[in-house]
Amino acid sequence: MKKNIKIALIKGDGIGIDVAEAAKETIDRVLEIKQLPQFDYCEIEAGAGYYQKTGLDMEPAGEEMAEQCDAILLGAIGLPSVRTPEGTEIMPHLRLRERMDLYAAVRPVRAYSNSPQRLSDPRATKIDLVILRENTEGLFYTASTSGRLQVANDYEARETLRITRSNTEKLHRFAFRLASKRKEQGKNALLTCVDKANVFKSMAFFRKIFDEIAVEFPGIETSYNHVDAQALDMVRRPWEFGVLVMENIFGDILSDLGGGLVGGMGMAPCAEIGDYNGLFQSSHGTAPDIMGQDLANPLAGILAGSMMLDYLAEKFDYESLADCSKLIDRSIERGFDESRLRPCESGGDMGTQAITEEVIALINETGS
Ligand code: ATP
Repeated sequence: MKKNIKIALIKGDGIGIDVAEAAKETIDRVLEIKQLPQFDYCEIEAGAGYYQKTGLDMEPAGEEMAEQCDAILLGAIGLPSVRTPEGTEIMPHLRLRERMDLYAAVRPVRAYSNSPQRLSDPRATKIDLVILRENTEGLFYTASTSGRLQVANDYEARETLRITRSNTEKLHRFAFRLASKRKEQGKNALLTCVDKANVFKSMAFFRKIFDEIAVEFPGIETSYNHVDAQALDMVRRPWEFGVLVMENIFGDILSDLGGGLVGGMGMAPCAEIGDYNGLFQSSHGTAPDIMGQDLANPLAGILAGSMMLDYLAEKFDYESLADCSKLIDRSIERGFDESRLRPCESGGDMGTQAITEEVIALINETGS
């Protein structure tokens, strides 16, 4: 058990700052209630605002500092109005992902009671699945520092989708372990490989490796779905799925669809996990259209904080941190059950501040 846990805190830009603060406040409170030592935060400046001030997208040595911490808690980074000379948005977090090889992005999609459902089918209240998005290659390979092989001129634009055996083996093993954990918890553990193996060689390769790894986990039920059919099924029968493992751009798109199904991006947390570190954030961006108005739903950030506690519990074999994570999750569930959490995002009357205060109140009541 490790005593002084060090967290890199990168708040970023726009609503990222508000949701990161909400997550930190919530974590501070659960640790206090459970009488555990507070985390040691190392705040790192990064993002579009920092770039405007300094011409740098992250403070000097920020990457090394983040890497040396036990986990990274991130708000959101980038503003469409702030661009590099090449015209791209400010994205230093992509370098962190690459540097620490955070190959698995875990994105839970979960419906809560009394929160408006986008689907009229009563089974939509049972949605509880996880999208596992490959996070370092696929079509985003082009955006990585090693992947700048694309063609872009006035006649043609071409980019590269890369699937490697080493990364895909790790991703699929991660998916099977996640499904096994869900099985132990009594949740739907069906593991579906989402691809386009009927058309692309890269996708047939992705599926072939899935089948190879499946042999190591005979207790896990598996299925396949092409990504277009999966998009249809996300609307037609999302309650039938457990874990969905897929290539990077497919996961990018389907996880927004998943967020939309359960109330919006403010309900969509994300954990980016590698072999030795993890980065925790909401799946959404900086939402410039609502920033500075107290309208952001901070629950995705708070739930990402809960995933970080769970990750640290496993990393340091520190069961009490898993209890902290459960306390946050139970408090949010209770908040929806008792109609005490009503985010503006899904038509309710509560902004960032009100939701954060209510989550803290629920933690106080549930934990004591
Ligand atoms: P990125 O590409 O960086 O993920 P994006 O362009 O997909 O960003 P977001 O910033 O995620 O865009 O916002 C998409 C939409 O969802 C916007 O209308 C935004 O206001 C809304 N949104 C995102 N996050 C939240 C939140 N936490 N609460 C309420 N609305 C949100």
